[in-house]
Amino acid sequence: ICILHSDIEISRSQSPKDIEELAAEIGLFTQEYELYGRKKAKVSISVLERLKNRKNGKYVVVAGITPTPLGEGKSTTTVGLSQALGAHLKKNVFACMRQPSQGPTFGIKGGAAGGGYSQVIPMDEFNLHLTGDIHAITAANNLLAAQIDARMFHEATQSDEALYGRLVPSEKGERKFSKIQLARLKKLGIEKTNPGDLSPEEIKMFVRLDIDPDTIIWQRVIDTNDRFLRKITIGQSPTEKGHTRETHFDISVASEIMAILALTTSPQDMRERLGKIVVASDRSGNPVTADDLGVSGALTVLMKDAINPNLMQTLEGTPVFVHAGPFANIAHGSSSILADKIALSLVGEDGITVTEAGFGADIGMEKFFNIKCRYSGLIPNAVVLVASIRALKMHGGGPIVTAGTPLAKEYKEENLELLKNGFCNLAKQISNASKFGVPVVVAINQFVTDTQAELQLVQKLCKENGAFDAIICNNWAKGGEGAIELANAVIRATEKPSSFKFLYDLQLPIEDKIEIIAKEIYGADGIELHPKAKQKIELYTKQGFNNLPICMAKTQLSLSHDPSRKGVPTDFVLPIRDVQASVGAGFLFPLVGTITTMPGLPTRPCFYDIDLNLETGNVEGLF
Ligand code: ADP
Repeated sequence: ICILHSDIEISRSQSPKDIEELAAEIGLFTQEYELYGRKKAKVSISVLERLKNRKNGKYVVVAGITPTPLGEGKSTTTVGLSQALGAHLKKNVFACMRQPSQGPTFGIKGGAAGGGYSQVIPMDEFNLHLTGDIHAITAANNLLAAQIDARMFHEATQSDEALYGRLVPSEKGERKFSKIQLARLKKLGIEKTNPGDLSPEEIKMFVRLDIDPDTIIWQRVIDTNDRFLRKITIGQSPTEKGHTRETHFDISVASEIMAILALTTSPQDMRERLGKIVVASDRSGNPVTADDLGVSGALTVLMKDAINPNLMQTLEGTPVFVHAGPFANIAHGSSSILADKIALSLVGEDGITVTEAGFGADIGMEKFFNIKCRYSGLIPNAVVLVASIRALKMHGGGPIVTAGTPLAKEYKEENLELLKNGFCNLAKQISNASKFGVPVVVAINQFVTDTQAELQLVQKLCKENGAFDAIICNNWAKGGEGAIELANAVIRATEKPSSFKFLYDLQLPIEDKIEIIAKEIYGADGIELHPKAKQKIELYTKQGFNNLPICMAKTQLSLSHDPSRKGVPTDFVLPIRDVQASVGAGFLFPLVGTITTMPGLPTRPCFYDIDLNLETGNVEGLF
């Protein structure tokens, strides 16, 4: 096998089988999927009902050590491991992956289909529009945003009576509440169904949401790294009569609707979560929701196809679900619960589903367990922890690796000293995973510059530090064949009885839950709540949101809040600047340091290399 080809060349060198063929292989009926071209299909969640009596397969999550900005190979390992299990060991297998945002694809990091000979194909379709789920999220998110400002404008410019007349118009002499309006009346405690029966006070309550503009947390989104949308003023046309407001855009994958798609368990559940989205408080401090704004039905309609996972395949023809891709800092960074559930039932009792947790394990894996597994009820059987020699050397004191600059010589030559020093990061992540009662298999992702002495040293240290096993993997260069040993180790790990447990109890006060994560997982001495964070904790406790799980918004480049501190930082107190809520998705997210929800384009973005070959019609330059 020649390994000098680019990811897109490798992807194109293999022609994928028709997705209908794959669907038949994994036991789907033709009415259970819809084709999106010949290489992708949306699988109906009705499969879950048909297979409800079938026992689930084993559930394996792939996480990683504290990475360099280049990524250490979680997606590559997820794909390679599933190729090894399915194409080589002939197990029923599914890989579940996130749909990447177009921001990084055209910005700094490139695509997310895996790499080398461990990829999802066709990788250009994977990395670009796929089946339009992110576009649907953008549309739903922005409909809600538009309604917030429009509603405030209408309330500001009309009397109660005029508003009521427009909200409940008279049709052929008859006024009727819509289903959504009846639900709102019920929430307000007004048990009336005839619009003529409301008193003036009740009309006032009904028509005025009285949103406090300073409390609006819902932003517009776009799936482009557009730094100039980090702060904008809206409403500047004279038609808005001076109702201007400062706001900003987030990237689409940071939308709460993306997190909802990832965490939902059924269409009914999605409808409820969309309705529960809190966009602001009113002037009396009560939460204002998407249900209050009357838009949750329309949001559900916009999301009705997006809820079905997307079926694709690996280079070796094994099945992959690509579904949802929430931001890994302000959201939980894992693909969808529904895809995992369908995959687990399709592979059946003897099969394995491999799913990925984004970011370093201190964030991605912790949230996978404490948020995703809590909502799904699924019990993980093993963790695969991906490590690279280069990241470990960086943790041991090697020069900081940055994207877009050539690697220093430390990363191209053997250096056992740096490696030994930096192993502490991997040891800490192994011990973190063990706190959840799940066996850890370390996948040492081999790069061409790694020496045998380096690889074997890490392997030995892993075994001395609590890993169930540690395997040197060469699947980037060799495909599934390079991960057969890993696959066998994973099978053995999943045969151990699971003693999975959560890290904290939901009933604990918000502050205590944050502190447990900070101390146990990051190794902090404690937390320091800034005044804004204290105030928000009080507000959410008063509003009844204190029992939600915690989704820490922290850098993945260090176990601490400071990205420059590598290895295992000690003697630090974790600052909590603010706490925000995604009530619809179902978590609170404390902000540790400054978090960007709208990345920018670098001086030399990836798109400089991307073009369409007009002779062949092929996309060039994606990686
Ligand atoms: P993560 O999921 O951890 O962010 P990826 O699997 O996306 O990491 O890999 C990041 C990049 O590194 C991809 O471009 C991939 O092709 C490349 N890569 C991964 N493993 C190797 C390897 N062993 N050798 C060379 N490049 C690799």
